[in-house]
Amino acid sequence: MQKLLSEIRGCKVCKEHLPLGPRPIVTAHQNSKIVIIGQAPGTKVHKTGVPWDDPSGEQLRKWLGISDEVFYDASKIALIPMGFCYPGKGKSGDLPPRPECAPLWHKPLLSKMPNVELVILIGRYAQNYYLGKAAKKTLTETVKAYKSYLPDYFPIPHPSPRNRFWLAKNPWFEERVIPVLKKRVADIV
Ligand code: SF4
Repeated sequence: MQKLLSEIRGCKVCKEHLPLGPRPIVTAHQNSKIVIIGQAPGTKVHKTGVPWDDPSGEQLRKWLGISDEVFYDASKIALIPMGFCYPGKGKSGDLPPRPECAPLWHKPLLSKMPNVELVILIGRYAQNYYLGKAAKKTLTETVKAYKSYLPDYFPIPHPSPRNRFWLAKNPWFEERVIPVLKKRVADIV
């Protein structure tokens, strides 16, 4: 795993598309039990090099019901975004994760984590990639159907503060889905 992680940290495959240059941000361990697959680092995380070190990360840890200590213990939780490097800004926020990244690195990483019991899929890029045809037409429908993807996958929306309108419109998520997610995570870690 260490060899693979240092190979990833030296990756420059889509260098010409990255406005701030390559800086892959990923954590994983051969004993990881949960894998969290998010989108791509933002500028703050690009600077600090610490994944989910932002308001989205704080919200995510609340949803999962775990401390920073557990969240950043790679032997429990691997943090693997769909794109490991900051992809740049588009008209309506950050650009999508670089499409080269997941096909190149996810399989090798997951093959070195034989103890994974749950993969949490955050946002539509991760959900479409991992659920394929089983993903519903919208993120809302996919999250609503979360039970059909268990025990392997748990799809959730992005915990970004920008998603507060979605959360306000879909109160069932925090009322009914989050308690199930918390329990599943607590049972594993
Ligand atoms: S986004 Fe992924 S594929 Fe592109 S340079 Fe970074 S690690 Fe390599």
